[in-house]
Amino acid sequence: MACLRMFGPYDLTPDNIERYVRPYAAGVFAVGYTRESGAFVVRYIGRSDSDLRTELRAHSSDETARFKWVESASQMSAFDTQCELYHEFGGPDSLENDEHPARPKGSKWVCPVCDVFDR
Ligand SMILES: [Zn+2]
Repeated sequence: MACLRMFGPYDLTPDNIERYVRPYAAGVFAVGYTRESGAFVVRYIGRSDSDLRTELRAHSSDETARFKWVESASQMSAFDTQCELYHEFGGPDSLENDEHPARPKGSKWVCPVCDVFDR
C-alpha cells in the first residue's frame, strides 16, 4: 500500500485530537483502522482548510477508527495533497469518500490527477 507520509496513526478520540493536532491548522488526514499485522488501512481521506481538529472530530463516531494527519503550508497544497491521496487510495471504489474532494469556495484550482473540474 502507498505510503502516507503522515503522523500517526492514533485512536480517533477527542482527547487524541487535542493532544496531537494543533488548533487551526490546515491539512489533510486519513481515517481508517489498524490490522493485527500493524498495517494501517485507509477508509477516508479528508481535509480542512482552517481547522483539522474540527474536521477530525466530525469523524470520531466509530470507536475502532484511527487517524493520521499532516499539516499543509497552504490551502492549495492541502487541496493538492487530498486529491493525490484520494486517487492513490482508489477513490470511491475503495474509500468512503462519496465524492471527489471539493475545491474551496471560489477557487479555480484543478485536481492534479484527474480532469473532474475541467468538464
Ligand atoms: Zn481528481
